[in-house]
Amino acid sequence: MSESILKLIPTNPNYVPSDQIIKKVRNLFPSIFPHAQRFDFRTAENVEFIDPGANFESVSCPFCGSPVDISWWQEAMDQAAGNKFSDLKINTPCCGKSSSLNNLIYNWPAGFAKFTLSVIDPGHDPADEEIHALEDALQCRVKKIIAHY
Ligand SMILES: [Zn+2]
Repeated sequence: MSESILKLIPTNPNYVPSDQIIKKVRNLFPSIFPHAQRFDFRTAENVEFIDPGANFESVSCPFCGSPVDISWWQEAMDQAAGNKFSDLKINTPCCGKSSSLNNLIYNWPAGFAKFTLSVIDPGHDPADEEIHALEDALQCRVKKIIAHY
């Protein structure tokens, strides 16, 4: 059966909230997602690529909008994986600007994080106010990733 997962990650890949903050967010979640099937909070040891599953279509340049060649991207990912995604710096292949793998435009959105909040079958797409309430509790900005598997 296909599953829809909403993943919320800090915009800063290295940000991991304190236990106290995580507890606060846990208490907040059922009011934001009353119909969700379940929640999953994960703190990984290293930064990971947080993907949109089957929704992954393409990658493009944040500067000039050119599509990024997937084999180039794959190679850059392999290289970054070699240092456990501690260094995400790249130069865009199209216009040669310095950027990061985290700042490329992923369609659908994807990102990098140590800390991931997952909502399995969330029941609705959270409104901006709900995301802001969550950001206040987490004390960071979050990026929304919608995955299908
Ligand atoms: Zn470019």
